[in-house]
Amino acid sequence: MNQLKQFALTAYYYTTLLQRNRQALLRARTGQAPVSVLFYHRVADSHPNAWTIGRQAFAAQMRWLSRHYDLISLSEAQARIASGCSARPAACITFDDGYAENCDFALPLLVELGIPTTYFVATDFMLTGRPFPHDAAAGAPLPPNTAAQIIEWSRRGIEIGAHTRSHANLGSSTEPEFLADEIVGSKRDLEELLGREVNYFACPYGLHQNMTPAAFAACYTAGFAGVCSAYGGYNFPGNDPFHLQRIHADPEMIRLKNWLTVDPLKLKHHIPFDPGDYGQITTTSLAATR
Ligand SMILES: [Zn+2]
Repeated sequence: MNQLKQFALTAYYYTTLLQRNRQALLRARTGQAPVSVLFYHRVADSHPNAWTIGRQAFAAQMRWLSRHYDLISLSEAQARIASGCSARPAACITFDDGYAENCDFALPLLVELGIPTTYFVATDFMLTGRPFPHDAAAGAPLPPNTAAQIIEWSRRGIEIGAHTRSHANLGSSTEPEFLADEIVGSKRDLEELLGREVNYFACPYGLHQNMTPAAFAACYTAGFAGVCSAYGGYNFPGNDPFHLQRIHADPEMIRLKNWLTVDPLKLKHHIPFDPGDYGQITTTSLAATR
């Protein structure tokens, strides 16, 4: 973020802080405290890019979050959303893709601090060691997690979730074979590896155009307990707990604070993705995986 934008956002944040605090008190009193689900990708000091946060910035975010929010698991988040009443603001930590360097600092820190974390893995890269296409295209073929790392961190308490096999754009096709391969296939890859159930799925890219009601139906039918999007959105008690709307955990602390204290403008202009009547849609050939 350039200096001018940072200055403008900081000014906006502080001029609306009183309004935010008043709204937060009102939500607490009426049981409408938000459940914010953050997503990170990579914590490292080398090869900075739009999906990397430095170690010290990440540690500072964890300290700030620990002071101001109940840091909870996705299943606890769903329970609070489903209950229709939650008085305390809460946040969840998730990671997407599966970068090897997260094992050096982020995951040890999260386990040490006892912060529940769900870690979404695109399984083809874990199984083959190939770098992610977006990293290869950027000239920085960063290493993905190995299967041994995923087993190790699952054992240490990190919840592992599925993120397709090939980091596919699920908005690109509603073909049942495609959805089964990417959604059921990634669940199966991880369950075979870990010997335990994998309950959550995160849609790659996670914008409105990267999801369809058919993809949500395939996740539901596959037995996932919830699906995460990534376009930026708040979850409030009484919402549908199956669809967890996530917020990008920006490396800039002011952006993180702006989101998590419920930006009145973002709330006003927020358009949630409609996953359709996924419980009623039946998909065929879901057993077909490659
Ligand atoms: Zn991803």
